[in-house]
Amino acid sequence: MHNITTDVAIIGAGTAGLAAYRAAVAAGKRAVVIEGGPYGTTCARVGCMPSKLLIAAADAAHVTARWPELGLRLNGSVEPDGRAVMARVKRERDRFVGFVLAGIEAIPASDRVRGYAHFLDDRTLQVGDAQRVTFAQAVIATGSSPSIPPMLRAAGERLIVNDDVFAWDDLPRAVAVFGPGVIGLELGQALHRLGVEVHLFGRGGPVGPLTDPQVRDYAAQTLRSEFYLDADASIDRIESTADGVVIAFTDLAGHARALRVDYVIAAAGRTPNVRGLKLEHTSLQLDKLGVPVFDPRTLRCGDSHIFIAGDVNNALPLLHEAADEGSIAGENAARFPAVRPGLRRAPLAVVFTDPQLAMVGARYADLDPQRIVVGEVSFEDQGRSRVMLRNRGLLHVYAEPGTGRFLGAEMIGPEAEHIAHLLAWALQSQLTIERMLEMPFYHPVVEEGLRTALRDAQKKLMRCCHREERAAA
Ligand SMILES: Cc1cc2nc3c(=O)[nH]c(=O)nc-3n(C[C@H](O)[C@H](O)[C@H](O)COP(=O)(O)OP(=O)(O)OC[C@H]3O[C@@H](n4cnc5c(N)ncnc54)[C@H](O)[C@@H]3O)c2cc1C
Repeated sequence: MHNITTDVAIIGAGTAGLAAYRAAVAAGKRAVVIEGGPYGTTCARVGCMPSKLLIAAADAAHVTARWPELGLRLNGSVEPDGRAVMARVKRERDRFVGFVLAGIEAIPASDRVRGYAHFLDDRTLQVGDAQRVTFAQAVIATGSSPSIPPMLRAAGERLIVNDDVFAWDDLPRAVAVFGPGVIGLELGQALHRLGVEVHLFGRGGPVGPLTDPQVRDYAAQTLRSEFYLDADASIDRIESTADGVVIAFTDLAGHARALRVDYVIAAAGRTPNVRGLKLEHTSLQLDKLGVPVFDPRTLRCGDSHIFIAGDVNNALPLLHEAADEGSIAGENAARFPAVRPGLRRAPLAVVFTDPQLAMVGARYADLDPQRIVVGEVSFEDQGRSRVMLRNRGLLHVYAEPGTGRFLGAEMIGPEAEHIAHLLAWALQSQLTIERMLEMPFYHPVVEEGLRTALRDAQKKLMRCCHREERAAA
């Protein structure tokens, strides 16, 4: 047995783990980072970056389909070349992974431990069969894995997850995607635009991360106008056959249908990677999913010397949050027991569909509808959006009567990634709707749509204010 003793042991060399390693070393402590799977991070290998590469090709193909509406004629047709599309996705993906690998190579070999780790007790990790790491503090940063609903197992070897999509050499003829969450929507729409026949099935009605019923319904309708999407599907049977998977289902019109696809893609959420860690060997308090209970400001698990960062803590499964949490956890592990809260930013999430979906700050579902005003804009008649032929969308901004404080927003629409950033910056700066309206808006830009929603909110805030004054008089 090879024994290693360290100040800080970090389990997982993903975005959170690498940030934790850098922070612990910067704080002057010895740290080791333990990785069981391939180096390169989920984001670069099979997550954020390859998905956006696929979307880039899909969006380019889609734009040409709308050229005639702009008065442009295409001589000949644009045909996706599946092999060329996948070759670029992999080539560029490998480039991004290369940057991560270079960063890993820069870590001294003595700080890199290869193998899957599990806890033997509160101070010891077993790594593979032959290595043991004794630590003063530890950071759990093991990420998450796709959840597979048992029903989908019937698809046999044709059941795949996002990782497998980015290993394709060519595009298939037809797929069924299960789960209209972020990953399912992005992959489903991109594959559809690249000429793959796509059926996207969900359960219970959610569409992406949206919780505002009007925005969610608008999103479902918009996306459904492009490809088959049933967010609350009734699946009767899944059967693997010699030449594909047969899915029997009741369609949106209530008719029984059967569909043959090449692959079933499971995109039904992700599960924190805690199962292999043998956390039961520690004194950590676990929630019902087996995830240690932790403080989101310090990332500390209970009052222990163990920290948890990134997707594995099941709180904010996003790249920038994983990076922030890794830094906070790594620094606190190094400073232990002088633990302090780190900077947490305004909540911000974007889904790279077209139109994009975005959420900022408090979710509608977490607000009391009686105690907010909702400012609204439709992008259907918004000037710049119409000019660009991208006039589909709905934005709701939420504000607090009395203070006029901006609380959050949910939207589908053009340039949502940019509008969401403006809103997130406003939220973190604790701006009121009135202050936000004092900011400049150029003409003609999509952001003028945001101004319309803010003006609507301001009008409703004034009405609330007058009502309260009348009630008091
Ligand atoms: C298809 C897809 C698209 C996405 N798109 C976006 C996006 O557009 N924007 C965004 O913000 N986020 C996106 N995400 C989410 C983002 O990728 C994650 O939030 C982020 O990568 C999480 O980083 P992490 O460090 O927590 O986990 P990871 O990067 O997964 O790192 C965890 C590491 O731990 C290792 N490990 C696990 N168990 C053990 C063990 N017992 N011992 C040793 N090592 C172990 C794993 O092998 C892995 O390398 C996307 C994700 C997917 C899947």
